Amino acid sequence: MNRKNLFGLTLAELKSELAPLPKFRAKQIAANIYKHGVKNFGDMNDLPKTLRAELETRFEIKVAELLTRLDSADGLTTKFLLGFADGAAVEIVIMRHDYGNSVCISSQVGCQMGCAFCASTLRGLERNLTAAELLGEIFFADEFLRGEGRKLDSVVVMGTGEPLMNFDALIKMLRLLHEDYCLGMSFRKITISTCGVVPVIKKLRDEKIPVTLSISLHAPDDKLRSELMPINSAFGLKSLLAAGDDYAQATGRRVTYEYILIGGVNDTEEHARRLAKILGGQLANVNLIPFNPVDERNFRPPTNNAVKKFFHFLNTHGIGATIRKEMGADVNAACGQLRARNSAR
Ligand code: SAH
Repeated sequence: MNRKNLFGLTLAELKSELAPLPKFRAKQIAANIYKHGVKNFGDMNDLPKTLRAELETRFEIKVAELLTRLDSADGLTTKFLLGFADGAAVEIVIMRHDYGNSVCISSQVGCQMGCAFCASTLRGLERNLTAAELLGEIFFADEFLRGEGRKLDSVVVMGTGEPLMNFDALIKMLRLLHEDYCLGMSFRKITISTCGVVPVIKKLRDEKIPVTLSISLHAPDDKLRSELMPINSAFGLKSLLAAGDDYAQATGRRVTYEYILIGGVNDTEEHARRLAKILGGQLANVNLIPFNPVDERNFRPPTNNAVKKFFHFLNTHGIGATIRKEMGADVNAACGQLRARNSAR
């Protein structure tokens, strides 16, 4: 018999799903699921035995199934392939920083955005993840870190997929994650990374949840950006930067611009000069990411020297820049690579 999964439901949804049970029962069940990580109704010790047995026949609590685990040699990064009921699989990456632990989650199964350098989009979009599945990725990481005596401090939605193309599920998940009866996570500990779906950046601003926005820029002019990222043909740099600026003003949160440095493509001093020019005056940080080689893609990483020069140029021209510390290159932490390998088998 098909049992309905209660994981990922809000308290209001639990109340209506469990009616005519009294509301305090829904609260107890929410606490069991979200606060105590209980997976079997039989273990909900604060419920009467007969109720536990009845719930067991009608419902289940399913988070996500672990398919593969890969640890980096330095032990700081662990990547997991997680499976869902229909056989879909997504990657998450746990990073243990000295300033806290974070998880990078996927927003979709596959991706339709078609960026020229990215492994996640090679076979297109399979489907959106549901709010429950998105939350399941985070719960998996939270439980895993607790098992190590650590805790989950922050969430970045920067794995496979374009989060703003799965907006409703994303917002539902974020609001649930923030609830006291769930993990109670502050919106400020959450970062959403987008390739630049401009109208949805405005929708995100209107939600009035102060999550950090990260915009994947990767080029300082429309011509190069459109070659690397098809989305740019629909929403060019001017409108994207205006949306970023508007988001920063509305939330008071500095926007991070991600810039992958690809050898010989976008990593010269001239590119740095144009980038500094278009970002001048924005409430922004630039995060430089050395391109992570992808077998199927014909790009190469930048030289160390090119990275240093680019970084130096920005910082001496009024743009706060950082270089992404390469974590877990040995576990293929670049998005999509573990999943691509798993399904290529
Ligand atoms: N769709 C969202 C989130 C997923 S991509 C976005 O575009 O931001 C997460 C980040 O990884 C993006 O900045 C993306 O451009 C970058 N990325 C993709 N492939 C990469 C690669 N091979 N090397 C380094 N960064 C890569």
